[in-house]
Amino acid sequence: MRSILFVPSVSSSLKSKETISKLRAKNMGSKLMEFDVVVVGAGIVGLSIARQFLLGSDLEVALLDAAVPCSSATGAEGVSGQGYIWMGHRTPGTALWDLSMRSKTLWERMADDLQNKGMSPLEVLGWKKTGSLLIGRTSEEFAMLKQKVELLSKAGLRAECLSSSGLNLKEPALEIGKEGGAAFVPDESQLDASRTVNFILKENRNFASKGRYVEFFHDPVVSLIRGSTSGEVKGVRTSKKTLHCRKAVVIAAGSWSGSLMQSLLSELNIGLDVPIVPRKGQLLVLEKFNLLPLNHAVMEIGYVDHQVASLDPDLSTSDVVDSHRALTISMSATTDAMGNLVLGSSHQFAGFNTEAEDSTIHYIWKRAGEFFPTLRQLDLSDLSECKKVRVGLRPYMPDGKPIISLVPGFPNLLLTAGHEGEGLSMEALGTAEMVFDMVLGNKTKVDCTPFSVQGRSSC
Ligand SMILES: Cc1cc2nc3c(=O)[nH]c(=O)nc-3n(C[C@H](O)[C@H](O)[C@H](O)COP(=O)(O)OP(=O)(O)OC[C@H]3O[C@@H](n4cnc5c(N)ncnc54)[C@H](O)[C@@H]3O)c2cc1C
Repeated sequence: MRSILFVPSVSSSLKSKETISKLRAKNMGSKLMEFDVVVVGAGIVGLSIARQFLLGSDLEVALLDAAVPCSSATGAEGVSGQGYIWMGHRTPGTALWDLSMRSKTLWERMADDLQNKGMSPLEVLGWKKTGSLLIGRTSEEFAMLKQKVELLSKAGLRAECLSSSGLNLKEPALEIGKEGGAAFVPDESQLDASRTVNFILKENRNFASKGRYVEFFHDPVVSLIRGSTSGEVKGVRTSKKTLHCRKAVVIAAGSWSGSLMQSLLSELNIGLDVPIVPRKGQLLVLEKFNLLPLNHAVMEIGYVDHQVASLDPDLSTSDVVDSHRALTISMSATTDAMGNLVLGSSHQFAGFNTEAEDSTIHYIWKRAGEFFPTLRQLDLSDLSECKKVRVGLRPYMPDGKPIISLVPGFPNLLLTAGHEGEGLSMEALGTAEMVFDMVLGNKTKVDCTPFSVQGRSSC
């Protein structure tokens, strides 16, 4: 079994780019390294934030990472992943709905812009309008899906309920039994994270020659520099250097954000317990797999339960971690832009462990077989030539909402993390726009209050 943690295409293209970044930094010589905005963490969230400042302002941006871009959660997806840009599993009228809707609009705009410039969104972003099928196999699950369709339709989304036979016409390879059904949202899309991340990196690097963008990788941030009177953050120290900032420091360190904030702030004798922890996820990919023709992206409704568990406000992180320490698997299946079948996925609290596990992959395969009879007839061990496993750490927040917030007591230190299983496609662009507006003092397009760290951490 081959296991991949880093993004091959991204990281191989990075080798030369890393050298470029180092040279750029070296060329700055002993000159004071000063930027308007310093972004800590180059996952999809940090990359999108850097992009937003570069495209939307004339500010100078530095992007830092302890490793290479997208080496963690985004990396798992970056190889391809599901990349779902879905609203169908969300609940209208919630803060997350608004943020996700905004992100979806921004992704669609990015795809349209490419199209208008004569480029192919499929080639550049792996963009596919697949439509989404959220499926249930029991009458109870089907009743829930019917309610969902009603809510989605009321919120203005094109959605329709499919009975078992209706579903069979749309997705003949799926078998859900007579009592089940599906919520079908025809306008949903997916992207390929590897292609998308490469595109964003390339776009950002266009600003390097204009002197507005520098990357520093393999260099973790270790402390903050704080002004003596105003409380403002004046910069950051990394393991190798000091970067000064004129306007803001943004921490977007995914699963590490909780421990990083703790260590950065404890040095300043400030206590802030940000309850973000890593939630391990694994995906099974069968490359260029043509034995299971799929017309849409599919997810079992049980997948949503992972989020529901997160959303119980009375549960602390340790409660949820304890009750979900055991591995859970829910089926998702899609075909990506390269024709790979992507089967998901596992959820597990296992600390920062990113090892691929045969047993987990076995369960993912078995679960998929419960929905797709074709897979039941195949032996996974016969598919080792085309089999890959992806492992990543989803940044988990117990209340199921990301943090997008000023850090209390600091007028220019922002924290954004905790996007869990939605950060890649659903929330990254909306988050970047929100951070941008907060730093510039603009009114945010989506209400930012629900994403504040206040009341969601212990100080
Ligand atoms: C199996 C799986 C399937 C998924 N499927 C989907 C999907 O279909 N749709 C979707 O929207 N999302 C999906 N996700 C979730 C998505 O991948 C994450 O929400 C998203 O990638 C989180 O991005 P991030 O930038 O916050 O964190 P990360 O990608 O983890 O980036 C954080 C970065 O911070 C860096 N860092 C840490 N500490 C420091 C430090 N001290 N100094 C500097 N840098 C530091 C790390 O090196 C890392 O590169 C999935 C995740 C997994 C694991």
